[in-house]
Amino acid sequence: MPYIKDKRPETMLLEGEWNVGAYKYKAPHLLEEFVQGLKEKKLIGSMCIGCGKVIIPPRNICGRCHQRMEGRITVSNWGTVVCFVTSPPVEKGKFQVFGIDPVESGLIQEGSVLIPTFVRFDGADANIVTELCNVDPKDVFIGMRVKAIWAEEPQGQLSDLVGVEPI
Ligand SMILES: [Zn+2]
Repeated sequence: MPYIKDKRPETMLLEGEWNVGAYKYKAPHLLEEFVQGLKEKKLIGSMCIGCGKVIIPPRNICGRCHQRMEGRITVSNWGTVVCFVTSPPVEKGKFQVFGIDPVESGLIQEGSVLIPTFVRFDGADANIVTELCNVDPKDVFIGMRVKAIWAEEPQGQLSDLVGVEPI
């Protein structure tokens, strides 16, 4: 596959909203496996013996070839930005993440810019939605190499993966 940055040197800009907090997973027990991995700073996926695809968070059935996905594999903490959006400066009362106003709760400073992003971690064939941190929004591009940022003391919850930052 050709490198997408060669084909599209300009980043396409679209106005819109992306409610990251609206994502839900249908299999809580699999998410439990995933967050137990996060507690150990590991990204756990399921591997398909039929087609070899690795999906994170893990799934029971391969969506591609419908084999049971019983194998587990830890993928790299390094990955590639495959999609991102840049928010306008965040205002109090304007949006929620997991039902919480991040400005009101003190997680985010008012006026800061968020970059929700899809990351494909090395070794995985699926993307994880997370936050791109420690970067000037002007410098972000599809294909950017990034690494996971972990909570200082992981608790076994989704927020253990704080986000990603450029390598
Ligand atoms: Zn498969």
